[in-house]
Amino acid sequence: MDKRKFIKTAGALTLGALTTSNLIASDADEEKSLNQDTKPSSKALTNLDADSKFDYIIIGGGTAGPIIATRLSENTNVTVLLIEAGAENTKEGMLYANGVGQMWTPDTNWGFNTTAQDGLKGRKIMAPRGKVLGGSASINVGSWSRGTAENYNSWNLEGWDWDTIKAWYKKIEHSDKGDKEYRGFDGPMKLEVTPEGTFMTDEFKKASKEVGIGNTDDMNGKKLEGADNWQCIFKNGIRHNTVSNYLDHARLRPNLTVQTNTFVSKVIVKDNAATGVTCFSEGKTQTITAQKEVIICTGTFATPKLLMLSGIGPASYLKSMGIAVVKDIPGVGENLSDQLRIDFGVTAPGGIGKSLRANPEDPAQMEEWRNTGYGPLSVAENTSVAFCKSSKDVPVPDIELMFNINAPMQYGSPPPKNAGYYFNVGLVQPKSKGHIRLASTDPKDTILINPNYLGDERDIKAFIKGYRLAMKYPKTNALGKYSDLSTLTISLDATDKEIEEHIRSKAESIYHPVGTAKMGRDDDDMAVVDTKLKVKGIKNLRIADASVIPELISGHTMAPTVMIAERAADFIKKEMK
Ligand SMILES: Cc1cc2nc3c(=O)[nH]c(=O)nc-3n(C[C@H](O)[C@H](O)[C@H](O)COP(=O)(O)OP(=O)(O)OC[C@H]3O[C@@H](n4cnc5c(N)ncnc54)[C@H](O)[C@@H]3O)c2cc1C
Repeated sequence: MDKRKFIKTAGALTLGALTTSNLIASDADEEKSLNQDTKPSSKALTNLDADSKFDYIIIGGGTAGPIIATRLSENTNVTVLLIEAGAENTKEGMLYANGVGQMWTPDTNWGFNTTAQDGLKGRKIMAPRGKVLGGSASINVGSWSRGTAENYNSWNLEGWDWDTIKAWYKKIEHSDKGDKEYRGFDGPMKLEVTPEGTFMTDEFKKASKEVGIGNTDDMNGKKLEGADNWQCIFKNGIRHNTVSNYLDHARLRPNLTVQTNTFVSKVIVKDNAATGVTCFSEGKTQTITAQKEVIICTGTFATPKLLMLSGIGPASYLKSMGIAVVKDIPGVGENLSDQLRIDFGVTAPGGIGKSLRANPEDPAQMEEWRNTGYGPLSVAENTSVAFCKSSKDVPVPDIELMFNINAPMQYGSPPPKNAGYYFNVGLVQPKSKGHIRLASTDPKDTILINPNYLGDERDIKAFIKGYRLAMKYPKTNALGKYSDLSTLTISLDATDKEIEEHIRSKAESIYHPVGTAKMGRDDDDMAVVDTKLKVKGIKNLRIADASVIPELISGHTMAPTVMIAERAADFIKKEMK
């Protein structure tokens, strides 16, 4: 069926009937990509029986979980259960790039905050995570960003070198750009260069040449450094996360059960082997048996919490919380690392430039998106980026200048009348490490998230240098005409101290936490999983989500999480008897 026609038909449905499954997965092209025998549908949920047994139980239906559920259930001889705490995703706002804000409400976002951050003047900042099928990739901005070969090689882990990982990315990607040496074109993850919106994206690229950062043809190809348009998961203007790209193709398989609205409170371990989970749904608690393996995919914040509540973690800490120790693994909840961002922007002199503001309440914009998949709602204001180095001596890009095509806006205020532009300057290789702790032993309680932002002095130094790179743009020929210097976020003459003050007062997360159940070598005492993603010292238990990423890449975290999930499924399938 013609894609545009299909979208038009779907747009005529009422919102209640508009699910990811019926909008996206009926596309004939997409069905071919996983070569499955079943048509996707919104299969009715199964109510688990008290004595339910499955071969594999996957906890967390976010980014990683749906991939593993799909891949394992390709073997018709095994039974697979995917458990997700959140609900099916039925929000139309999930589907277009500018709908992200609508996804941050408490029904689809866990709504975490960090603990008070010393490095950020005691502020507690937002730490959103998706609480819905599709997880954080149902509420995220959707950029596809793989980092560099050096990032992965620096992990120094057997089987996780760049050549191996590059081959996996090529299998995973369905890219609309790039060189076949680096990129994949037939895989399940559908990627599309994000719409530019206005000519400002081009001006940014011209200005990047003027400031010496340059351009790159493909940030996910041979060269990361330089300005490039984002490539995102909004193919044909519609979000394609791992639910639509993978799970919707598998949901009618009789050997796969997807259980939403079900919260796992514990992994049951007997004689050093995982045997199942305890979960609750609609007030009922039950135990489900895993005959082969339990795979945890609950993400960087929830995975260490679940491990600790299951008695797996640093023994002394568990004892101090009154939790019986099942396995002493000191690295659980440690090594938390996250990227920060800080704004720098300017409005244009009156009458110069162009704004493009998306407004889901504008019926014309909604109609355009429903009919074509495009229009203002499909344009993420942050259209492009330049990865760069804060100084010549750093080994990999440690800064990203995310470019937004509109003038900065105060949250909750009407948009400024004039055009303009702004940067989110991101610190992508932070050295600071923090940790996760339990708020209490009640599984329903929140998580204490302490990323220890800017705790390492090197971070603020690099961040200031990165900020100064963004400050070069208003004086370029390309962007100078759109820059009313009296409206700058911070004066171009600002001292390092003033920039530091701005960063510490205003920086927010880029929402890319990793590392709290890190993968490591056998001789690494702080490693939680080995290079096959098995929890050290416990049989039949793996972790496959962003928590195992040992160190942040010079990029974002969805792409590596997808890669890790595909690899986890591959490791498990190779061990299936
Ligand atoms: C607002 C935002 C914007 C982002 N933008 C980008 C971007 O543009 N590009 C990019 O690369 N990355 C981005 N990210 C990060 C990226 O989305 C994550 O790194 C990635 O989705 C992590 O995948 P995951 O599988 O580890 O966890 P998640 O996708 O968070 O999945 C975990 C799942 O487990 C479920 N769960 C948790 N606890 C339990 C439990 N006890 N029982 C059952 N289920 C449970 C959750 O509800 C969730 O569905 C963004 C993230 C956010 C929040």
